[in-house]
Amino acid sequence: MSRSLTGQVNLRELARQEASIEAELPLSDFERVIALSTPANNKAGESDEGVIRVSLRFSGEHDLVFLRGNLEGSVTLTCQRCMEAMDYSLAGPVKLAVSEKEQEVEGLPKGFELICLLDADDLGLKLDEVHLLPLVEDELLLRIPLVPMHGEGAECLGRARVGEVSDEAEPKEEITRPFSALADLMASKGKGH
Ligand SMILES: [Zn+2]
Repeated sequence: MSRSLTGQVNLRELARQEASIEAELPLSDFERVIALSTPANNKAGESDEGVIRVSLRFSGEHDLVFLRGNLEGSVTLTCQRCMEAMDYSLAGPVKLAVSEKEQEVEGLPKGFELICLLDADDLGLKLDEVHLLPLVEDELLLRIPLVPMHGEGAECLGRARVGEVSDEAEPKEEITRPFSALADLMASKGKGH
């Protein structure tokens, strides 16, 4: 069951079928993301174009459609401390609720963001005719920091310049994924009992 992310989809129908979409899209499909990214170090001839992997599951009823899933991929940004290019991950869960109108926000599951089609004119006006690509792009854009900087433990020339003592002995492997526990919880909900 493969459905495309490009073009219009009928969200109401996808939700009714509890359908899912898995897609792999070139980063170049997301023009607004590209506009914020650093031109990848001009490796002539090399097509080291990034890829965004999208997986979405649809559910819901009536006038509220839930999109649950994941985004994977990264974009090249310029570290604002050392001005070097860096790879920035855009990976993370997606939890959206889409409705046509401003409506009953009560009962919205925790962690879900409500999107009203009335307020998002690039997505379409009806649940039957929604453009998913700009919706996914909005999610990607939300993950790009206003002031990108190398994370802790990463090579950042700017930090060295400031004269910080480099502490190489310190093991830094902190990967916090605040939503993964919640996602597991949601996934296990509804099973059993
Ligand atoms: Zn840096």
